[in-house]
Amino acid sequence: MPFSSLSEIQNRLSSGETTAVEVARLYLDRIASFNDELNAFVHIDPAHVLAQAQASDKYRSEHDARPLEGLPIAVKDIFCTQDGPTQCCSNILKDFHAPYDAEVITKLKEAGAVLVGKTNMDEFAMGSSTETSAFGVCRNPWDTERIPGGSSGGSAAAVAAALTPAALGTDTGGSIRQPAAVTGITGLKPTYGRVSRRGIIAFASSLDQAGPMTRTVKDCAMITGAIVGHDPRDATSVADAPAIDWLAACESRDMKGLKIGKPKEYFVDGMDAEVRASVEAALKKCEELGAEIIDISLPNTEHAVAAYYVIAPSEASANLSRYDGVRFGHRCDNPEDLLDMYTRSRDEGFGSEVKRRILTGAFALSSGYYDAYYLKAQQVRTLVQQDFTAAFEQVDVIATPTSPITAFKLGEKTDDPLTMYLSDIFTIAVNLAGLPGLSQPCGFANNLPVGLQWIGPAWREDSVLSAAAAYEAATEWTTRSPAAFGGES
Ligand code: GLN
Repeated sequence: MPFSSLSEIQNRLSSGETTAVEVARLYLDRIASFNDELNAFVHIDPAHVLAQAQASDKYRSEHDARPLEGLPIAVKDIFCTQDGPTQCCSNILKDFHAPYDAEVITKLKEAGAVLVGKTNMDEFAMGSSTETSAFGVCRNPWDTERIPGGSSGGSAAAVAAALTPAALGTDTGGSIRQPAAVTGITGLKPTYGRVSRRGIIAFASSLDQAGPMTRTVKDCAMITGAIVGHDPRDATSVADAPAIDWLAACESRDMKGLKIGKPKEYFVDGMDAEVRASVEAALKKCEELGAEIIDISLPNTEHAVAAYYVIAPSEASANLSRYDGVRFGHRCDNPEDLLDMYTRSRDEGFGSEVKRRILTGAFALSSGYYDAYYLKAQQVRTLVQQDFTAAFEQVDVIATPTSPITAFKLGEKTDDPLTMYLSDIFTIAVNLAGLPGLSQPCGFANNLPVGLQWIGPAWREDSVLSAAAAYEAATEWTTRSPAAFGGES
């Protein structure tokens, strides 16, 4: 059972073969056994988890089960929850308790899910390795000397090692898809505006989007279906987003007639040759399943990382100005005056990567530089969007590697922010364009998992899910799990 998918657990719960309390106990036991090794969870309250599971069993005995009845789901420490602390893995929010639940947390509760705890992440979601967490690094269950990706690395490691069957992450530049790829699980970033951002601690508001991290494509669809919907309290949540039958989208078993775009800019020298070979093999498999592979070009991809590292830090510098020692979070001891209180509180509370982003963003937005940097980056963003619009006139979906490399060693890139930033070279353009993107396992390179990324037109998560479900059904990568944690590799 621990490595079962969410939908398999759902079947066992509805047949009466098991109960939500038994399921919760199983995962709580695994967290107790393995979390010290992985540091995937930064907060867990077993009594509260069991109480939710008991309430779910009671609900099931009296009513029809809700869509996620009794299913354990962990959430990244970026989601505000009334229960337990919400710290965004930053010292500036140490012991912060949110006054309300994020909209997606409310929706998970309404769907009957059992919230398991808070998962580790890069501080304020800034990073690709979960090494900037104020609560210690998180480790990859496939090789604990390596990173689990980031920034949703705790969610990824927890699912990969079956400390929970599913988790929520957020993705600003790749933080769901890249950790999913390097830990061998499936993760979906929905279209920007599909899922409410209310109560999700803001990093870069025009890019941030929440989504599921699971073992299978169908599990992603189950969770996404429960968390989407217009939220009048998030101004960027879209009111008339086209509805999708999330589960039906996963029923496709072949790819007959599907036009898959293969962008030449995502298969380049310099990427890991074994990663490239795995993804090329995956595309061959899609061809066997009836798809047509069409060579395309997304020429502005090469500018996406540079544009992102102006836009995301600019928005972050504005969003993080609220941590000033006054209203919430850390306040320094014995300030001399107000300015000393602001500067020392922020200096003590933020880690160095967060400071680097705030400084870069404040610089890019400052008078005299705004046009040269921020405005220019926004223009590049439009070009990136136009590339995708043109491509989707020719193809239904686009397939690429999720990451150019497999999980790297802990500490390998911490002294070199630029090479760290390049980890997201294949995921960032999708955020700039606001499109849906999914990563699923497609093989191994250097004995480590490789991710295949599917990108769809805006609001067409169904296209992405269908393609991924057909590929998943024809391969056996999702059945692999790390042997050191009791799985089958
Ligand atoms: N790694 C990217 C960054 O550091 C993306 C992070 C994210 O998606 N939250 O900004």
